[in-house]
Amino acid sequence: MEFLRPRGLDEALAAKAANPDAVPIAGGTDIMVELNFARRRPSALLDLSDVTELTGWSLVGDRLRVGAGVTYAELTGERLNGGGGGELGRRLPGLAIAARTVGSPQIRNRGTIGGNLGSASPAGDCHPSLLAAGAEVEVVSVRGPRHIAIDEFFTGVKRNALAPDELVAAVWITQPTGPEQFAKIGTRNAMVIAVAAFGLALHPDRGAVGTGIGSAAPTPVRASDAEAFLAGTLAQAGLWETRGPLPAAVVAEFGSLVSAAARPIDDVRGTAAYRRHSLGVLAKRALTWAWQDYRAGWKRAG
Ligand SMILES: Cc1cc2nc3c(=O)[nH]c(=O)nc-3n(C[C@H](O)[C@H](O)[C@H](O)COP(=O)(O)OP(=O)(O)OC[C@H]3O[C@@H](n4cnc5c(N)ncnc54)[C@H](O)[C@@H]3O)c2cc1C
Repeated sequence: MEFLRPRGLDEALAAKAANPDAVPIAGGTDIMVELNFARRRPSALLDLSDVTELTGWSLVGDRLRVGAGVTYAELTGERLNGGGGGELGRRLPGLAIAARTVGSPQIRNRGTIGGNLGSASPAGDCHPSLLAAGAEVEVVSVRGPRHIAIDEFFTGVKRNALAPDELVAAVWITQPTGPEQFAKIGTRNAMVIAVAAFGLALHPDRGAVGTGIGSAAPTPVRASDAEAFLAGTLAQAGLWETRGPLPAAVVAEFGSLVSAAARPIDDVRGTAAYRRHSLGVLAKRALTWAWQDYRAGWKRAG
């Protein structure tokens, strides 16, 4: 197996164009498992360690550009050297909550947001929060950059919209204008692949609600009917303005609509019925927490 070690983005893109079968390796926390278990034997690995253009984050207008090489530890603030990790997580609370649930400290130190998108697993923990936030994925090749709406990025089980010569460069997320939440259920409390996961973002500036479901459909998906129901109900009752209590019936209906949006399967981690049920519970919890934050005068970090 060839090991390609480009110095910088231009070299990486040229190498990917010349070797479209080369498999990028960032943190290696997914790829190394596949190699070690002989599930995959690519002709070449394209090591992204020295592609510094993929690291770090910046604020561009009211949008955050989060490099593909940003790790979970940078999102959670566990590793504060080189990149102001804590601040990024404060600015993107939904993603930071999700990042805190990933693997172990070792995995969070190595694993990247770009690698999560590259693997495109239905269980990837970044995906529900990215869907809820309405993120865009910036991909790049020798042909130039393009942006893909997160809703269009996941094309099948562990498949994404990347062309063979493209790399994920970054994720673009509009700074939140309201609370975000993430909740995940697994067979234990840590080092666990989600049996079901749910991300929620309230967007009071435009009276909208964003959702993301993980591990309960062939790809991460939004619960569009639940979003429309909640946004409509909040607007009709004037609750965005009054920040009054949410009726229990609204919370319950939201949970049912999220459950209904799932297309789960039975597998070794859980049954389809359990996934549907637990998603409803996660959605009700996430909404209750987010609304409590909103009522308590939620303010954007930074
Ligand atoms: C013990 C353990 C626990 C884990 N726990 C969790 C968990 O709780 N939640 C979770 O979501 N995941 C978990 N994972 C999976 C993994 O850590 C994540 O998916 C992580 O985000 C992968 O990032 P990485 O940088 O290590 O990717 P890599 O392994 O380097 O790459 C993963 C895939 O993405 C591609 N890729 C990487 N970077 C790019 C790029 N810039 N452009 C294009 N393609 C790219 C690679 O070619 C590969 O196909 C766990 C893994 C292990 C081993």
